Amino acid sequence: MNRSVSVLGAGIVGISCALELQRRGFQVTLIDRRGPGEETSSGNAGILSYSNITPIADPALLPRLHRLLLNLDADFLMHYPHLLSLLPWLTRFLQRCRRRTFLVDGDAMSLLTRASIDMHRQWIEAAGLQPLLNSGGGLKLYRHRDTFARDRLERELLQQCGVRHTLLDPDEVWQLEPDLKRIFVQGVLIDESISIRNPEKLCKAYAQMFVDAGGQVQRAGISALRPAQDGWELTTDRGSESVEKLVVCMGAWTPEIIGQLGYANPLAIERGYHTVVSPAPGTGLSRPIFDVDAGYVMAPMEMGLRVTTGSNLTRREARPDPRQVARVMPRVREAIAIDQELLPEPWMGRRPTVPDTLPIIGPAPRHQNLWLAFAHSHMGLTMGPISGLLIANFIEGKPQPFSPEACRPARYL
Ligand SMILES: Cc1cc2nc3c(=O)[nH]c(=O)nc-3n(C[C@H](O)[C@H](O)[C@H](O)COP(=O)(O)OP(=O)(O)OC[C@H]3O[C@@H](n4cnc5c(N)ncnc54)[C@H](O)[C@@H]3O)c2cc1C
Repeated sequence: MNRSVSVLGAGIVGISCALELQRRGFQVTLIDRRGPGEETSSGNAGILSYSNITPIADPALLPRLHRLLLNLDADFLMHYPHLLSLLPWLTRFLQRCRRRTFLVDGDAMSLLTRASIDMHRQWIEAAGLQPLLNSGGGLKLYRHRDTFARDRLERELLQQCGVRHTLLDPDEVWQLEPDLKRIFVQGVLIDESISIRNPEKLCKAYAQMFVDAGGQVQRAGISALRPAQDGWELTTDRGSESVEKLVVCMGAWTPEIIGQLGYANPLAIERGYHTVVSPAPGTGLSRPIFDVDAGYVMAPMEMGLRVTTGSNLTRREARPDPRQVARVMPRVREAIAIDQELLPEPWMGRRPTVPDTLPIIGPAPRHQNLWLAFAHSHMGLTMGPISGLLIANFIEGKPQPFSPEACRPARYL
């Protein structure tokens, strides 16, 4: 077997594929127009959570569908001009908002998440990144009892998948996070969750491990793929080259490239934003919190408290919309004393999502020597390493640690 592979896209997914293939003895070139981990993989909440397994097609969404469509809730913002083009996606999404599919898809996500966090732990140690690691778990917090009741199916899923979690009364929440104001009526601690205080540094350190072991990182904008005699002709802004095997991990931009080969675009783009705040002197958080009723996640990081937002459904390249951050900031101030906002403008990222929320991982359905790993939605930082492992097994024809059927590309391509 030819042992050279080009991996397109150096986000966490591409970096992980490159590392795992290199570990198996492949000569790997990792190609990106930016530096490793500088796109979506840089600005996320940094949470590697065993509980990051809830499909967004949750039946609990149905009773509040009208609120979502009217943009009344802080965790969701729809741009109406985009609605028509999104209808086929939304139809498939709504068909999955059922108890059974929720539990089945969540179970598949749990297999990915568990295996991936185990790999992260090993890579974090190998890269000497322990100072970035926060092992204090993650807190899901509720301001209203009916919201907590609404999420009961999610807790059933955690139970079904053996995800350790502890229900906390308000006093127990404040014992864990004494600087939070006393506005929460219920907490759920995801005991074994870990988080990273700087996701971009994590990506760059993994990429450096790859380079130190002889891997090539090439800075180039990729514009075309064409099947050639013994593989592929790849066109970039640095010219054309022949490559034998290709793995495409270009996140939200993947459909553009594989669309040239006749594959449909299966994605909705859930854009998300972050800002960074400094807490009042002498205060802070020990672990990430998800303030469910207010629609934001706040994670302690090297640069301050990073506040991330929910979904902004719109075109991938539409102008950034500052409303989501503006909406959540007053709610953040209700939860913790803030000194100042540290970013002049919010950062924006793109979460590519298919209706069942599971990533697309595997061989391209109608082409040889082409593998795909994208559509990681809200969980890509967590699921990077397992994506690399599954892709490497597909390329080598080796058995998988569990059935990757739920991620098969043909379900949407
Ligand atoms: C606000 C927010 C919070 C999140 N929080 C979490 C979290 O706490 N935990 C978690 O697990 N996940 C989280 N996520 C999701 C996670 O960040 C993504 O799923 C993950 O980063 C996807 O990685 P990727 O490698 O697929 O994509 P990307 O990081 O987007 O990488 C794709 C790469 O392809 C390159 N590329 C694209 N087009 C071209 C081209 N034409 N030529 C060359 N290169 C190209 C890009 O430059 C980029 O580097 C969050 C996302 C957001 C937006």
